[in-house]
Amino acid sequence: MRFRFVLVFALASTGCSTPPPTAPWTLSSESPVRIDDPALLARMGRALDAAALAGTDPVISGHHVRAATSFTHEGREVVAVGGNTEYGVPQAVHGEVSVMNHATALVGAEAARREVRFIAFHSQTCEGDSRGCGDCRDYMRATTEYRSLLWVCGRAVDRTIVVRRFADGLFEEESAPDVEPASLGLPAGEIDRLVAAAREARRGGITLFTAADRHTGAAGLSASGRIYRSAGADDAAFHYRFAVGGVIQQAATERDYALRAIVVEGEPGAWPRVAYRERQYAFDYSSFGTSRGEPATLLILSDGQGRLKAATVETFLPKPFSVARFNPTAVERFLERQTGIAAPAR
Ligand SMILES: [Zn+2]
Repeated sequence: MRFRFVLVFALASTGCSTPPPTAPWTLSSESPVRIDDPALLARMGRALDAAALAGTDPVISGHHVRAATSFTHEGREVVAVGGNTEYGVPQAVHGEVSVMNHATALVGAEAARREVRFIAFHSQTCEGDSRGCGDCRDYMRATTEYRSLLWVCGRAVDRTIVVRRFADGLFEEESAPDVEPASLGLPAGEIDRLVAAAREARRGGITLFTAADRHTGAAGLSASGRIYRSAGADDAAFHYRFAVGGVIQQAATERDYALRAIVVEGEPGAWPRVAYRERQYAFDYSSFGTSRGEPATLLILSDGQGRLKAATVETFLPKPFSVARFNPTAVERFLERQTGIAAPAR
């Protein structure tokens, strides 16, 4: 009898705190962006209800990402949903990329770019304020009016909506401050060596389909004093391998898990473009070093004519998605296994 009372009480409590799935979505008082347009807010709500039903297949992480958008096209409302899927070693198609790919399939690339105003994620609690991984940022920049794109999270527990700006996760290369080599805190002559290595690397690589103004070379200096270099490489399936990724993979191959600086150089006279996917690689790798007390990796841009810009990889990837924040013990367990050195006490 007592058990029955507790059970009934528990069900009643759950019913009181969780609104029914038909309750209207409202803007959270904590939303950084206010939405004054009731029709837009209603569209966000309908997108969230559609996202809640999106299929996913996160066979590795178990982390479901259910997303959608809603927009008006030729006088009718279109809702495009997306769900994350994972496969292989690990690889993934993320929810926001899935949404924009579906929107493009439904109405075409130009209409999708013109009409999609937000990506909405259905979540229990909407924790964190990441603007997605680097690769998804590259895709949003390519397929949406990203400067005004809204990043929406619908909190299922109280059916409130938190709206942020996608552009708060961007940092243009030109925004990095101009620097003099002597101000970077690296050993004398190392910057010249790194720039020369990046320039030499850029002479190589694979550019079957890559425009010259996107081809880059990169060179990284590790805390142990070694230099690694790499160039970008494309292929017929368009699975691009980035210069910064090549540098990091070589350093990791040598179990050299702390990079002090990475120099990137593109066409002479221009600041190189550093894809957000590359920044994601560099940010995650930098977290290996910072977890062991090393400073964050500096990302240094060279214009090929003697001018430099520099900032930490953390500056280049605002509002990050990162394993170091998602699961810090995974990084420490991995480094301890690879280096045989336990993480310093916190
Ligand atoms: Zn992503």
